[in-house]
Amino acid sequence: MSDLEIRFFNSLGRRLERFEPLVPGRVGLYTCGPTVYNHAHIGNLRTFLFEDLLKRALAFLGLDVVHVMNLTDVDDKTIRGASEQGVDLDTFTQPFIDSFFEDLATLNVVPADHYPRATRHIAKMIEVIAALVERGHAYVSDGSVWFRIASDPDYGKLSGARPDQARVGERVAADEYETEDVRDFVLWKGAKEGEPAWDSPWGPGRPGWHIECSAMSAEILGETFDIHCGGVDNLFPHHENEIAQSECATGKPFVRYWLHSEHLIVEGKKMSKSLGNFYTLKDLIAEGRSPRAIRYLLVSVHYRQKLNFTFEGLEAASSALRRVDEMRFRLRNAPLSEQPSDRIQRRVEQFLDRFRQGLADDLNISLALAALFDFVRDVNKAIEEGSLGAGDDRRIEEALGQADRVLGLLDMPWGVAAAGEAPGGPSDAEIEARIAERNEARKRRDFARADAVRDELAAAGVVLEDTPQGTRFKRTT
Ligand code: AMP
Ligand code: ZN
Repeated sequence: MSDLEIRFFNSLGRRLERFEPLVPGRVGLYTCGPTVYNHAHIGNLRTFLFEDLLKRALAFLGLDVVHVMNLTDVDDKTIRGASEQGVDLDTFTQPFIDSFFEDLATLNVVPADHYPRATRHIAKMIEVIAALVERGHAYVSDGSVWFRIASDPDYGKLSGARPDQARVGERVAADEYETEDVRDFVLWKGAKEGEPAWDSPWGPGRPGWHIECSAMSAEILGETFDIHCGGVDNLFPHHENEIAQSECATGKPFVRYWLHSEHLIVEGKKMSKSLGNFYTLKDLIAEGRSPRAIRYLLVSVHYRQKLNFTFEGLEAASSALRRVDEMRFRLRNAPLSEQPSDRIQRRVEQFLDRFRQGLADDLNISLALAALFDFVRDVNKAIEEGSLGAGDDRRIEEALGQADRVLGLLDMPWGVAAAGEAPGGPSDAEIEARIAERNEARKRRDFARADAVRDELAAAGVVLEDTPQGTRFKRTT
């Protein structure tokens, strides 16, 4: 690991802190995953891409990361969906689990090491709840088990919610975001007619939403681990409740660093299923938008800033990527003198240093991208001046490859991926047909159309270069 100090804004304490993992060189990372009752929208995917960037950055900075993301496959929404379709929970959730993994593959997200499904870890949840009952932090009533907020003097340490203001005893069984308040919350819900149920010491029932993350994180990462992430809407009550459950059950600190990403918004409002102002990834791709541009747009804004989604933003993302693609294309065809130039070697080091420093500073992606684009500009200049020497092309490509371990953008495959498969790009014949179309448009002096064709090909990872012999193309993926 480099000596560079890594700092993160810890929501617990609300300040920038030096990041030091519990075990030097290793990081346990838990990120709240999707509720698999529907397709993810790109707001959800913003959060998952922030977590991907975080994980890739930690690895790039020399740490070994074990990443766990849960799949919430039992809660009010999945149960309602299954019952509406008249199928069991697994049959209902499987297509949404598949769709989620497809989206991650399409956006070039590095898979987590573990994707525990709530329904497969009920025994551990029962164990944690039993410990809470035994320690007086939970009570049983009507076959359900409730967490007693008044028994936890630390309740509220993450969100600032005060336990003395908690409406203790009020029993609201819903575990959906919008109905939560500061109050005793349910750990185990007694079975209702027609709902899926598991046996427990308190009778048949099913877990509440919060307990699943406490149980599955402890099972895989241990009772205390390094980083826990989610969107800001998870901070309260979900994460506050996770801390209460875990720390009261074990008597140990739960998580050392809490990182929360801000929302993706549309016209000033959070993108959400309930407002109906959402796009799924598949909607955008069906409209011809490139997954690469979508990934760029979603990772290019700092995670603690709201990201306003617009189609102009997507266009800008495509043109930013095109700048890098075009430089790489020129580089492949650039004449090199015999001598390597130390100027480029120094410039490469400077680029990677700035890039690394940006990431280590609370994942400052703007600094990291500025370092990349300054480098691209300087390489273009060197190509124009003819000042590249032997091996410089390889050095530059290697540096871009290093940066791309974090960005996952430059060599991102084109198109839509089925989970686990490398997606294909357009065929040579398709590209030739598009070039012919562009030539026709230029003859008609319809330059807007000609440019649009070039842009679409660039978004698909194909760069065109006009030479006296005609238009040539190169794939950049
Ligand atoms: P859910 O499937 O509803 O449990 O949400 C999965 C993740 O997406 C959670 O971490 C949420 O915080 C996050 N999320 C939901 N809506 C948005 C949004 N508009 N922008 C960013 N993240 C979101
Ligand atoms: Zn969670």
